[in-house]
Amino acid sequence: MPVAVQVGDLVASAREGSPRAVARLLSLVEEAHPQLAEVAAALTPYTGRARVIGLTGSPGVGKSTSTSMLLSALRRDGKRVGVLAIDPSSPFSGGALLGDRIRMTEHATDPGVFIRSMATRGHLGGLAWATPQAVRVLDAAGFDVVLIETVGVGQSEVDVVRLADTTVVLLAPGMGDGVQAAKAGVLEIADVFVVNKADRDGAEATIRDLKNIISLGRKEIRGRTWRQPIVPTVASEGRGADAVLAALDEHHDWLLADGELVARRTRRAGNEIEAIALRRMRAELGDVRGRGGLAELARQVVERETDPHSAAERLVREFRTA
Ligand code: GDP
Repeated sequence: MPVAVQVGDLVASAREGSPRAVARLLSLVEEAHPQLAEVAAALTPYTGRARVIGLTGSPGVGKSTSTSMLLSALRRDGKRVGVLAIDPSSPFSGGALLGDRIRMTEHATDPGVFIRSMATRGHLGGLAWATPQAVRVLDAAGFDVVLIETVGVGQSEVDVVRLADTTVVLLAPGMGDGVQAAKAGVLEIADVFVVNKADRDGAEATIRDLKNIISLGRKEIRGRTWRQPIVPTVASEGRGADAVLAALDEHHDWLLADGELVARRTRRAGNEIEAIALRRMRAELGDVRGRGGLAELARQVVERETDPHSAAERLVREFRTA
């Protein structure tokens, strides 16, 4: 049995700035604690303030270094920042995990910064479920900015970054074939491009390639075009942070101007509700399985006593009455 939690106390402590309470709340999300509904209800009045920024890019482009740079700039502006580092590479692959690399920076001991790696453990479907709830925890705990970081390698990670108000895609010269390496939906989700390692040969070419590609597909929402800015940075030297923050502010203003921020957040809430409902349904379906309903139906299909569609129909009916 999971340990019972004093939800009210925990939420109050998190709001008072206790990192332990924030960490505990995030653990409750990760372990899908049975009191999570109670937690969500307690958090809700305090949510909606944080700006949620997604940051993605291939391994090695400089996500950890850039995060560290942006943390310094945001802290200088007095902002409290929560970082959710979602790293699908397993600990067995040998690479240091994203969140751990950020934690190795000077920000680890700053009380205005909270860094958390989200466990993926092979169930990326669960990440679409857990991440928005984790964002709510940090939002309610009073972080002004929540950075969701992920390695941009697949659709699931793209989906996770879509949870953000503003999505930053990081590229760098000399990473495989540069801009081409960042295909597969990653370019489309960018609100802001950052070309890091601008000190390297090929940075100009990367920016040029990117300009060519994005000129083909401007984002138009209600007749207003957002021109995805391309910001060069040298994160390892802390160069370009202000330009990135300015681009983020500009995008935020653009989102606010025409209700697009609310539209995005509404889409996000819809996805979140769906993920929570689907997970519940799957759990209940598991109960139906447990009672032998599915096994019996499978036997009947193999014996050609029924067909899979009719069997599924019966399973759904059984589920509805469960
Ligand atoms: P991540 O895997 O995307 O998180 O990338 P890291 O932040 O770990 O950076 C990968 C490597 O690139 C590290 O060795 C960094 O020191 C280096 N790096 C990061 N930013 C820059 C930059 O602007 N210029 C150069 N030359 N190297 C950088």
